[in-house]
Amino acid sequence: MTGIHEDVIERLTADVAIVGYGPVGRLLALLLGRSGKRVVVVERQPKAYPLPRAVHFDDEIGRIFQSVGLPPDSQPDIVGPYDDFYEWRSADRDTLLRLDWRGLGPSGWHVSNFFYQPALEDILDAKVQALDSVRILRGWTAVTCTQDEDAVTLELQSRTDERCTVTASYVVGADGANSIVRSWIGSSLTDLSYFHDWLVIDLLMKAPSEQFDFSPAAWQLCDPERPTTLVPGGPGRRRFEFMRLPSETVEELNAEETAWQLMAPWGITPDSARLERHTVYTFQARWCDTWRKGRLLLAGDSAHLMPPFAGQGMCSGLRDAVNLSWKLDLVLDGRAGDGILDSYGPERAEHVRHFIEASMSLGEVICLADPAAAAERDVRMRADLVAGAQPPPRPLPRLGPGLHRDDAGGGLLAIQAEVDGGTSSGLFDDVVGDGGVLLLAEPALREQLSESDAALLSDLGWKVVALASEPGVGCVVDINGAYTDWLRGLGAVAAMSRPDLYLYGVAANANDLTALLQHLRAALAMPVAAMQ
Ligand SMILES: Cc1cc2nc3c(=O)[nH]c(=O)nc-3n(C[C@H](O)[C@H](O)[C@H](O)COP(=O)(O)OP(=O)(O)OC[C@H]3O[C@@H](n4cnc5c(N)ncnc54)[C@H](O)[C@@H]3O)c2cc1C
Repeated sequence: MTGIHEDVIERLTADVAIVGYGPVGRLLALLLGRSGKRVVVVERQPKAYPLPRAVHFDDEIGRIFQSVGLPPDSQPDIVGPYDDFYEWRSADRDTLLRLDWRGLGPSGWHVSNFFYQPALEDILDAKVQALDSVRILRGWTAVTCTQDEDAVTLELQSRTDERCTVTASYVVGADGANSIVRSWIGSSLTDLSYFHDWLVIDLLMKAPSEQFDFSPAAWQLCDPERPTTLVPGGPGRRRFEFMRLPSETVEELNAEETAWQLMAPWGITPDSARLERHTVYTFQARWCDTWRKGRLLLAGDSAHLMPPFAGQGMCSGLRDAVNLSWKLDLVLDGRAGDGILDSYGPERAEHVRHFIEASMSLGEVICLADPAAAAERDVRMRADLVAGAQPPPRPLPRLGPGLHRDDAGGGLLAIQAEVDGGTSSGLFDDVVGDGGVLLLAEPALREQLSESDAALLSDLGWKVVALASEPGVGCVVDINGAYTDWLRGLGAVAAMSRPDLYLYGVAANANDLTALLQHLRAALAMPVAAMQ
């Protein structure tokens, strides 16, 4: 961090300055701006990046989009739900691994959705632009930073070398893999030393999809002669990815001619598809060890990178944004101490490690260019498949230690199911509204809440909702019994979820409900180390 340039043309102030306006910066700006926070976003590119990187998101992200008025089923031209297996096949097309991506997930949306990123980002942008509280500075690069006890000041540089400053209570670096904010924080990286170059090709299909044999629509060809990914790229689009072989250079692979040659065996020609882009990415697996330093925080690719085989990189960044926004909201309003921000990094680092390791293990299946090693893998995986031994169920990802109780549910993702609220029925958030919720297994449990418990929840803006046989004020009917089953599985009579959809904790009985509220009250005022 260095001093500020003398010739500054404008000095801006904000509650939060966000560096980077990719998907993560957009969602964070939208969430903070909607809650009335003054936000300045700084983006070095004068225009939006017109090409996709991410093509896939899961049901949890569907629920996050639902919360900002963008439910996945509202954009059929941009988002296509997926309802099939995601297969991994050998060179001779034998199935080696089947991931079940059928149906709805616990968040109430399809487990898997393929989408067209630029169009979805445009919609997020329009929502941000509609907010008076957010100012977007495009064509400006954050170049230096100073922070003291009261504020942090960014110096920005325009393309014509003009300078301006933004002074904010907090700066979030959503500035991608080569983050300058990360360098200011000085974070070390945990790097799993995974580096593979892949040619990524995006196609707008001209011919109808029936003309091609993409069945299932998402699969991986684990052929050592050319490991290949075939997935949808959103409605009417396809994504192909081809691994660089040891005998090739990046330049050879990243040629338009090469792209068409590689797609020819799949029946794709300039007559059947428009090549929207081809580029070589180096897939990596790493996360930063320090997500916060004083008033500086990181979110998205600035904090973590993973190979895209599970389609979880952007998803993880969006989870960062939701985790951070409600905590910043509380701190900026003076409703919680600044210490709660220390919970952000440990919670998210542990969670993202789960997805990085899952993506790595999928990458290890496919990224084999050695025929002998691939043959050995095929024998082992075929045998495992026949024996029904794979894939082993992975434990549900849980937030690392932080702003939640260490009980049966704390740190796990809450579910979303259908409820009847009397005047309307459907998905819980549509009926009840989003935000923090204390869900009670029965209305009588309300009596367990003291006045100060009720005041605490009300001050936080968290609702109290009870499952009941009839809908009524603060009561909903659990239409399919999903909430009842879920609470039973957790051994709980109540579940308290935070605004980012993760459980603060669950109460095993009525007395424990009182203890859960006490824990929350204490945690909101305490530094993270004192919570567990
Ligand atoms: C081939 C590929 C496929 C993928 N597929 C998926 C998928 O299917 N699903 C999924 O969830 N994820 C996927 N990902 C990952 C996903 O694309 C990224 O995780 C996501 O786009 C990162 O978003 P971000 O907002 O954190 O960063 P970015 O999108 O990189 O945005 C960072 C922004 O910060 C700006 N910036 C940087 N430095 C400065 C500065 N100093 N001042 C001002 N502005 C600055 C940049 O211009 C940029 O606009 C994939 C990635 C790749 C490469």
